[in-house]
Amino acid sequence: MPNKDIVKRRETCRLAEIRYRINHPEKVKESQRKYREAHPDRAKEQSSRWRLAHPKEFKVLYEKWEKNHRERRREFWRENWMKRRAFKLGTRVGRLPRGYWKAIVTLYGGHCAYCGLSKPLCRDHVIPLVRGGRHEVENIVPACVSCNSSKKDRLWLPVIV
Ligand SMILES: [Zn+2]
Repeated sequence: MPNKDIVKRRETCRLAEIRYRINHPEKVKESQRKYREAHPDRAKEQSSRWRLAHPKEFKVLYEKWEKNHRERRREFWRENWMKRRAFKLGTRVGRLPRGYWKAIVTLYGGHCAYCGLSKPLCRDHVIPLVRGGRHEVENIVPACVSCNSSKKDRLWLPVIV
């Protein structure tokens, strides 16, 4: 029966495809990346369809991803929070190149821009957002929590030590 043949051929094809994927993970990854670049909308739609169809698998993958990217996610939310705050205060969000925060911290040698101590740092706006300062790379310096909270909406001059 011709129909049976087609089914069989399709099955062989599918198995070959699976085998290829297992044996050449790098190539598959590369071609997926190219596909995503060429068709971003279609790729997004397909992945969201996959997510809906495979909630359990997605959860496992997501948890794995989250474990490996905890710091990046935290950074993302911190940044997001700052942007929303700036937006609420009606000031503009300016230039924020990728990895800018790390670059600023490196520039200050991992020290607070006001007291010069090496402590856990957070983003501080030199011209405070409430005073119309922008949330942008030129207006952000690292500050320790105690400087940040005692500075409040005053203008302090940062020093590089
Ligand atoms: Zn400080």
